[in-house]
Amino acid sequence: MADYPRTAVELRDWFATEAACREYLQHLRWPDGVRCPDCASMKIWPMKPPFYRCSQCGYDFSVTANTLFADTHKPLRLWFEAIWYITNQKVGASALGVQRVLGLGSYRTAWNWLHKLRRAMVRPGRDRLAGVVQVDETFIGRPQRGKRGRGAGGKTLVLIAVQGQNRKIGRIRLTRIADASAASLEPAIQGAVEPGTCIQTDGWVGYSGLKALGYRHQVIRPVTELGENLLPWANRVASLLKRWLLGTHQGAVRPDHLDYYLDEFTFRFNRRTSRSRGLLFYRLMQQAVALEPILGKALVGGRPLKRTTTNKG
Ligand SMILES: [Zn+2]
Repeated sequence: MADYPRTAVELRDWFATEAACREYLQHLRWPDGVRCPDCASMKIWPMKPPFYRCSQCGYDFSVTANTLFADTHKPLRLWFEAIWYITNQKVGASALGVQRVLGLGSYRTAWNWLHKLRRAMVRPGRDRLAGVVQVDETFIGRPQRGKRGRGAGGKTLVLIAVQGQNRKIGRIRLTRIADASAASLEPAIQGAVEPGTCIQTDGWVGYSGLKALGYRHQVIRPVTELGENLLPWANRVASLLKRWLLGTHQGAVRPDHLDYYLDEFTFRFNRRTSRSRGLLFYRLMQQAVALEPILGKALVGGRPLKRTTTNKG
């Protein structure tokens, strides 16, 4: 059996009812049988649909409990349509586009959905890059008004890690970092790259501790200017990212929302060769049921933002 719809017609055929949507989520979330989200017991009593009761701890739950779809007041069918629409936009979707296509009354709802789904684009516990990986940093964002000529005010520093694949660009990871000190670079690299990997960098002193962290380290460029003169793969990814932020989002990305956009860019970039858009739909669905619920309140401010320093040394 195919795991995902291939066309919009199939999407509507498959997911014509709320029960069909729930069945699909259940198949993704509990392929081996219903499991209590609270205590992980598999001794479950079916209650009045869509509910289950855990015989171990007494918890009543449905398939959307503790997922991105928890506490939604909108039909799952509408969510499925949103996910289909977003994964079928080649470069990315805007909140306005989501609002129009789904006929949502409120722009705010469309914006919230889009940001929740962006967060789901990062797979929890995703695997890290390995093999040969180029690592560099770049500045994102335009200088704030009045700060022109005073360095990089209003800009955010992003660590770019690019895995090579047959001497070409493979998968990427993007991480916002507070500054280019070893204390900021090292945890970001450890989160993105497997130990034992050959990491290529420039000669910046912030990378000098990589060997001690269990990486092989090659300095392939002696310069140490920050944000410019990037390594070739990192340079390519940085320019695509900047063009995407400017083109799809008109550069209107608040620094405290940047993480969501980095997640979406990474999700799309790492699947840029996926032939079937349906496969992207499937992946995003999988990740949506694996995700803890996100409160609207948590979205508004984004993840905590630390001020960036503008100089390497
Ligand atoms: Zn339980």
